[in-house]
Formats: sequence, C-alpha cells, structure tokens
Amino acid sequence: MEQVRFEQVSLAYDEGGPLAIQDISLSVAENEFIAVVGPSGCGKSTLMKLVSGLTEPTEGYVYVGGRQVAGPQKCIGMAFQASNLLPWRTTLDNVMLPLEIVQPYRSQMRRQRKAFEARCRDLLARVGLAGNEDKFPWELSGGMQQRASICRALIHKPKLLMLDEPFGALDAFTKEELWIMLQELWQEEPFTVILVTHDLREATFLADTVYVLSKGPGQLVARKAIEQARP
Ligand code: ADP
Ligand code: ADP
Repeated sequence: MEQVRFEQVSLAYDEGGPLAIQDISLSVAENEFIAVVGPSGCGKSTLMKLVSGLTEPTEGYVYVGGRQVAGPQKCIGMAFQASNLLPWRTTLDNVMLPLEIVQPYRSQMRRQRKAFEARCRDLLARVGLAGNEDKFPWELSGGMQQRASICRALIHKPKLLMLDEPFGALDAFTKEELWIMLQELWQEEPFTVILVTHDLREATFLADTVYVLSKGPGQLVARKAIEQARP
C-alpha cells in the first residue's frame, strides 16, 4: 500500500510568483523510510507542509493514506529541529499531549488515563528516558529533549512520522545515538517516515530511499536505493 503520493505537484506561495516546488511526483510505500535532502530553499519545508495539509498545491495532487489531503492532518506524527516541548509540562505530560487531542484517544482519556500513562512510560523507557518522566524540559539535555519529542510524535501510533531536521541541533555523538534509537523504534514497530535533513550521512544511514531536491525545473534530481550504501 502507498502511504504518500505526489502527482505532478507544483506550488507558488504567491499567485503567479516563483514556484517553491515544481512538478514533483513521488510515492512512499507503507512503512518505507525515506529521506529528502537538498540545499536551503529547495522546497523541503514546502513538501512537509503539503503532506501535513498546512498548504495546498497550486497544481497537481497530494494523497496521504489513499485520500487527497484537504486541511491539516491530525494523525501524522511530527518532530522538528527544536523539540517544542511545553516548558510547563513534565516529560510524561508532554508525551501524553497528542492523546489529549487526537481521536479516538481523546474521548477515552478519562477512563483510560492509567493505561495511556503506562504506554507513555513504556515508550520513554524504550528511548532510554526511564526515570525522567517527572522532569521538566529545562532539566533535560538537548538529546533527551529530542528523544521525548519523538516519543510525543509516536504516542498516538501514527501511520506516518514526519521529521524536519530532528537532530540538526545535536552534537555528532548524540546524533548517532539518536539515529540508532530511531532505527530501533522503527524496526520494532514499523511506520512510514519522511525525514528532511541537510545531513547526507544521516539520510543514507537511516532511509531506504533518499530523494535529492534541487531548485528549479527537474528538481527531483535523484531517487536512489541505497541499501548497499548503508554503513
Ligand atoms: P529551512 O531551510 O531550515 O527550512 P527556511 O529559512 O527556508 O528554513 O524557512 C524557514 C521558514 O520560513 C519556513 O517555514 C518557510 O516557509 C518560511 N519562509 C522561507 N522563505 C520565505 C519567504 N520568502 N517568505 C515567507 N516565508 C518564508
Ligand atoms: P527549504 O525547506 O528546503 O529550505 P522551503 O520549502 O522553505 O525550502 O522554501 C522553498 C522556496 O519557497 C524558497 O525559495 C522560499 O523562499 C520560498 N518560500 C517558503 N515559504 C514561503 C512563504 N511562506 N511565502 C513565500 N515564499 C516562501
């Protein structure tokens, strides 16, 4: 099954203005891990906004889970370069957040709170954050904050996880630890991943398929299966 599909998608932010992305066609299979790399301004964020329904294509079609995207998608997990953890919430309560917002969890929250909490604790333990459930974001290192932010993105079991430079602010050692953490999460319980990154090594380490974007016509330069290139 296909999780995400772009059909000849172009987008101009201003009517008649320059195209932020131009004639992009691609498809991401269910549980595939893809990475999108390319220089600043090539349209990576725009691609993410199209998938999450925060903007619409000027031309072409975007499908997620077989349906054309219309409006913001709640059942996608997302994490960014900044962890965006809410400073007044503990680690556990930050990770719980999507369960308080996304259905059907939202309506089950009152009766199931204990079970949901147990799941959060379990997920936090899997990423090495056991014992940090009651800490606040400022008490966590940058790497720990990103671990928590990825837990938050996955807690409602989304079919699709979108990561925009999630490790961009971390030092090289912490980065590699988090690559392995993400890879383990994905191997244990697969989901579709779209990873946007500037780091080609990160892309080839993690992804099944790496898309290279450039600016302008024919911008989808390469789609390369990199199984063999994996370290
Ligand atoms: P990055 O390269 O890390 O994606 P950018 O500097 O390209 O960061 O973009 C950061 C944010 O600013 C994005 O959300 C993008 O949509 C917005 N942005 C980029 N260029 C413009 C522009 N010319 N006008 C308005 N918003 C822009
Ligand atoms: P990337 O994430 O790869 O840095 P973006 O998707 O942010 O690229 O930007 C692609 C192009 O679209 C850039 O030329 C950028 O300046 C432009 N752009 C991005 N967001 C906006 C916006 N909100 N309004 C106008 N132009 C934008």
